[in-house]
Amino acid sequence: GARAAIPEAAGTVLLDGVTKRYGQATAVDRMSLTVQPGEFISLLGPSGCGKTTTLRMIAGFEHPDAGDIRVSGRSVLGVPPYRRDVNTVFQAYALFPHMSVAENVAYGLQQHRASKAAIREQVVEALDLVQMRRFADRKPTQLSGGQQQRVALARALVNRPAVLLLDEPLGALDRQLREEMQLELKLLQSRLGITFVFVTHDQGEALSMSDRVAIMRDGRIEQLADADTIYARPVSAYVAAFVGQQNFFRGPVVEGGTAVDSPHALVRGIRAELADGLQGQAAVRPEFVSIAPDASEARADAAGPVNTARGTLIGVAHLGETMQYLVRLGEEQSLIVRRPTPDAPQLAVGDPVVASWSAERVLLFPADDAA
Ligand code: ATP
Repeated sequence: GARAAIPEAAGTVLLDGVTKRYGQATAVDRMSLTVQPGEFISLLGPSGCGKTTTLRMIAGFEHPDAGDIRVSGRSVLGVPPYRRDVNTVFQAYALFPHMSVAENVAYGLQQHRASKAAIREQVVEALDLVQMRRFADRKPTQLSGGQQQRVALARALVNRPAVLLLDEPLGALDRQLREEMQLELKLLQSRLGITFVFVTHDQGEALSMSDRVAIMRDGRIEQLADADTIYARPVSAYVAAFVGQQNFFRGPVVEGGTAVDSPHALVRGIRAELADGLQGQAAVRPEFVSIAPDASEARADAAGPVNTARGTLIGVAHLGETMQYLVRLGEEQSLIVRRPTPDAPQLAVGDPVVASWSAERVLLFPADDAA
């Protein structure tokens, strides 16, 4: 049917109630999302939550069963992938082995019937963007993994799409190269002002690169926010558990919705909308917990109420910048503690310890909100 022009700027990606089913399974479930022009957004979540399916629908390789997808203000339903103002970079670089680097990049332009000179100019520009101009005549097999990924990126950028879709593009690289490429990719994105929709299951990658992160769960977005908000104010135990590490204490809610009475500690937290008597869970991150030998006073480094728990140190691990301690509080409750290495306490496995943490660092959730 007729597609009405609506006032969304070039580079806007809009999903409106998008659903995708495979037989009985719902891969994406009435998902809505607006990505602003020039924004770097990541879709983050565990395997099977619908990240790739979402990306493939924006790209045009899959078609939604319901809902609308708009790119730059125009519905793309029924529009083939090559006619959408988007390009995709995959983890498997999908370079043609028999073509040179330059030919691979030029392939991204072939739909547009440009003159040879114009093609050459655009290819060189795209290779310059990823610092691969001097490799123009090589074959992909003569390149490292990181270099191949750069070529794939150049091929996707050569058309100057308004939107670039990236599906775990750095997944095949080793850790150090991956971190270098993260920085490069982020710089490139802000320089070009292209909208990036980035799929990853690596939380560090998502948090460090993105303007906003969409945490997905069962085909839906559970939380969409910047990294600080996702980290400090997760909307659910699911998000709290998925991003970073958490210690959870389970038990009935007490004290007017401000604490969880778990078997080995009464854990006070930030007031939540929870009624006394409900099953709840309190969450605190390892870096917010201090430990000391049990003989000493609990450290009160916060103004408000402080939680304390006594236990036995059962593990110490050197993680480089931080030391990690594992404290057993009881049968089924242990506590992970992380301290910066320079002021980490000297403790030995088997020592009785007292752990303490500010109530302001504790988030309370209902227990049925399964993590
Ligand atoms: P991963 O991180 O493992 O790539 P994902 O979050 O990208 O996972 P999707 O690949 O989008 O998840 O898959 C979402 C759900 O849809 C999964 O349950 C998956 O098994 C199912 N699914 C995806 N593609 C198909 C398909 N072609 N046929 C049937 N089921 C599919």
